[in-house]
Amino acid sequence: MEYATAVHSCCCGCGERVVTPFTPTDWWMTFDGESVTLRPSVGNWNQDCRSHYVIEKNRVIECGHWSDTRVEAERRRDKRAKAGYYDRASALVRSAATSTESANGDAQTGGLWSRFRKWLSR
Ligand SMILES: [Zn+2]
Repeated sequence: MEYATAVHSCCCGCGERVVTPFTPTDWWMTFDGESVTLRPSVGNWNQDCRSHYVIEKNRVIECGHWSDTRVEAERRRDKRAKAGYYDRASALVRSAATSTESANGDAQTGGLWSRFRKWLSR
């Protein structure tokens, strides 16, 4: 949880290490107290085994072979999903920063104004 990542040995038995980061556009994992589910599927396209599976309630379910064309299509979809997600996230951060600056500006203006009025009323 500290690194928001799961690492497991490839479920085909090849021994390769499979790293699945948890992000809104990558994998998510649940633990119901008895079993683990990891979604979406794990496609080890960069490994010799090219295994493809999901882990559902501690069980490994094979998802079948994907062609290079389908893998490329998924990579493009994933890239678009990440770009969209991070564009929205950075827009929210910019919006929050602008409203914080505005709130601080108002507070400072109000503070200066009220000090000025106090100074005038002396
Ligand atoms: Zn493997």
